Amino acid sequence: MSDHYPFENLPLPYAYDALEPYIDEQTMHLHHDKHLQNYVDTLNGLLKDSPYLQTMSLVQLICTTSRLRPQIGIPIARNAGGVYNHRFYFNNLSPTSSAGPSPDLLVAIQCAFGNFTAFQEKFSHAAKSVFGSGYAWLVCGPQKELSILTTANQETPLTLGRYPLLTIDVWEHAYYLKHYNKRADYIKDWWNIVNWDWVNAQYMLCMKPNCGKIFWGDY
Ligand code: MN
Repeated sequence: MSDHYPFENLPLPYAYDALEPYIDEQTMHLHHDKHLQNYVDTLNGLLKDSPYLQTMSLVQLICTTSRLRPQIGIPIARNAGGVYNHRFYFNNLSPTSSAGPSPDLLVAIQCAFGNFTAFQEKFSHAAKSVFGSGYAWLVCGPQKELSILTTANQETPLTLGRYPLLTIDVWEHAYYLKHYNKRADYIKDWWNIVNWDWVNAQYMLCMKPNCGKIFWGDY
């Protein structure tokens, strides 16, 4: 798999119907095959005539766009963010929900939020509070501290100097066919299919001494 132009729409790591009954098969088809595909295709189109940008990874593109002319930087940021955020979202879901946070991550969650239930409540509240389209995230900061934040549209925590561990997509296309306008019901269902193995792996990456190199501007 190459993490630069031309970007591919990687297959889901599970079957389209694997997240039933929490997320329905049709939603997964549309979300992956139409919405994410559109971000991939648009991003490739934007990079078509820019050989310098074609060698960059998604993360590099996302962290570079603010230095480009807005006419090209803004659409690249939106579409690279769309690819990055959706890949992250699909990977942090699993039909075989794992046990939960690793002992190390659980301690970090307890330090930041008091206990796991308080973390879940705060995260769910953040997800509900996103006005319009966007995401809620659990992120790790430069001092390795955990926090919850929300991003609008296809903005990412990377440009805020935060490394993502967990995310929920709260654009209506992520849940409207099954949950209609009831975002809170979708968020409740979503907790059943969090891929904690993925989240734990992100936390381990984040705790590596050189992790900040790419995510905190020194790339
Ligand atoms: Mn989406």
